Amino acid sequence: MHFVNAKGILHGSGGFPSMNIYRGCTHGCIYCDSRSTCYQFSHPFEDIEVKQNAPQLLEKTLRTKRNKCVIKTGAMSDPYMPCEETLRLTRSCLQIILKYGFGVSVQTKSDRTLQHIDLLEEISRTTKCVVEITLTTADDRLCRIVEPNVCDTSHRIDVLYEMKKRGIPAIVWLTPILPFINDTEENIRMILDACIDTGVKGIICYDMGLTLREGNCEYYYAALDRHFSGLKEKYIHSYGNANGVNLKIWVGVFIFNQAIRKNEEFRRIRSLRVVKFIYEKMHKLNAYIFIM
Ligand code: SF4
Repeated sequence: MHFVNAKGILHGSGGFPSMNIYRGCTHGCIYCDSRSTCYQFSHPFEDIEVKQNAPQLLEKTLRTKRNKCVIKTGAMSDPYMPCEETLRLTRSCLQIILKYGFGVSVQTKSDRTLQHIDLLEEISRTTKCVVEITLTTADDRLCRIVEPNVCDTSHRIDVLYEMKKRGIPAIVWLTPILPFINDTEENIRMILDACIDTGVKGIICYDMGLTLREGNCEYYYAALDRHFSGLKEKYIHSYGNANGVNLKIWVGVFIFNQAIRKNEEFRRIRSLRVVKFIYEKMHKLNAYIFIM
């Protein structure tokens, strides 16, 4: 872990600027796209870059920002890594977001979110708060292999129940779908059941979420060698050995045909009033967004 003074903290325009307080991540997900070389990390991915002046920068920005909006955090680095317990920078930023009347959308895999439930609840009550939790496998044992340094799926589902109890909207990222690992209909069904039971407001599945780009691909294949004997060879045989293989269509067909359209879960989701289901994108097999 190393500390820097950043020049800015909010990036992107429109209604959803993004904020990354940390750069790099220690959760160790074997498929992590953020470690791809295209993101040009100048330090090892696990050597977290801490933007130590993030709260000051955020306060300065929000104090003068005219239009209220929802600030998104957690897209490239989990805001609830173990270091947050001592640094408490995510907490400080949430306090500033609350103070200036902005909304927040937090994407994470960690149940450390619950340590800030008071703040999240207050933001939700006064403006807008959405908690986004990733669920990839219903099998905790498998979860500890593919996402080794963060809490398992059961604990994440506990977080979703707590959000439901507190009236904080939650959505689930059902991604990535890893060929020959978590791509079974049973797994998808179990995750969908958890989503329904916990009353999440949406399920997001962008393609399959496995990019296999340079940097990410080598890390993933090394993990396959460690944990899934012979699977790397199966990937290479099925998808070729190039980085960035395009697996969109395969997973698109799987999710649409097998897990959603034909089975009971789809009808149950519909019965929970699907207000938007992006058919155009579905037909293009590019992206799947289910909003309940
Ligand atoms: S939590 Fe996200 S950023 Fe961190 S290792 Fe996992 S996939 Fe990568």
